[in-house]
Amino acid sequence: MSVRPYRDIHRRVSRQIFVGNVPVGGDAPIAVQSMTNTLTTDVNATVAQIHRLEEAGADIVRVSCPDQESAFALKDIVRQVHVPIVADIHFHYRRAIEAAESGAACLRINPGNIGSAERVREVVQAAKDHGCSMRIGVNAGSLEKELLERYGEPCPEAMVESGLNHARILEDNDFFNFKISVKASDVFLAVAAYQALAEACDYPLHLGITEAGGLRGGTVKSSIGMGALLWAGIGDTIRVSLSADPVEEIKVGYEMLKSLGLRNRGVRIVSCPSCARQGYDVVSTVATLEERLAHITTPLTLSIIGCVVNGPGEARETDLGVTGGGGGSHMVYVGGSPDHKIDSADMIEHIVSLVEKKAAAIEADKVKLSAE
Ligand code: SF4
Repeated sequence: MSVRPYRDIHRRVSRQIFVGNVPVGGDAPIAVQSMTNTLTTDVNATVAQIHRLEEAGADIVRVSCPDQESAFALKDIVRQVHVPIVADIHFHYRRAIEAAESGAACLRINPGNIGSAERVREVVQAAKDHGCSMRIGVNAGSLEKELLERYGEPCPEAMVESGLNHARILEDNDFFNFKISVKASDVFLAVAAYQALAEACDYPLHLGITEAGGLRGGTVKSSIGMGALLWAGIGDTIRVSLSADPVEEIKVGYEMLKSLGLRNRGVRIVSCPSCARQGYDVVSTVATLEERLAHITTPLTLSIIGCVVNGPGEARETDLGVTGGGGGSHMVYVGGSPDHKIDSADMIEHIVSLVEKKAAAIEADKVKLSAE
């Protein structure tokens, strides 16, 4: 029995697959992914973007393979990055085989769109030979004609049927190493489709609200749709689709998982919106700290609160905290207790240094524990 049952999320039991060395499904942490938006044939630009995504914490990165040059470029890309790469293929079975040969860890392809049974067999064989998993990616905007005619419009039932039809093709080829997504840009449709699919099979699910929009709108929309699913225990890997720098997708993905206690990475800042009572400029302090602390990967909490109304209470629940006081002097909390005071002018440098030291201490403890 957990101490705070209202915080418990019971994850749907799914089978586990691997995307390269990253487990997806089962009891694995929910993997966060993004997709490059460089030209895949521009190997340097693509590798540089993947490195930025790795730094931000990406577990998996997807790369488009629209033509043969891209599928071949994948080979050079895979060699220079650390995260497993998913090759995004549409229709052409040769691209899928080339991508598998180039070292893709996963193929995003819908077997029902490949063509003949023989072509499907060849793609599955290439995936087996090269240790690739697959993702079946159903999208409300590109449902099969026959389903659209039968159902009249994209609906959850049609999307689930499409996903299961593709799955059956792989199962008939004795291939079970895949995950499924049923994305839609409509939150209601996507959530209902994922809920129904979660009931209908035990394959790991890749969550996404497709074409969600720009940074602000897309973040809100994705958080509502994916948040509802994750809260209900559905979802094994996520991609937040934003018309923005892909690094933002990773940041938003983590924030979503952090909010639900499903994953922790880096500094989680608890801060007040500020008001006339604030002892220092909370908004600019938080903005600066977010930037200055972006390199910390160790999970820890920091409260940045403008005054004593909420400062001590929040500080009690966080590893480090600051509460604004009068006369430009503010109380610093360590481990929930008031520890010492700091002036406004020195606050940023001081907090950055405290957080860095705390993170180093946590990491050192981890090493010590694992050596024991
Ligand atoms: S904690 Fe203090 S400064 Fe911050 S919003 Fe509340 S009353 Fe205002």
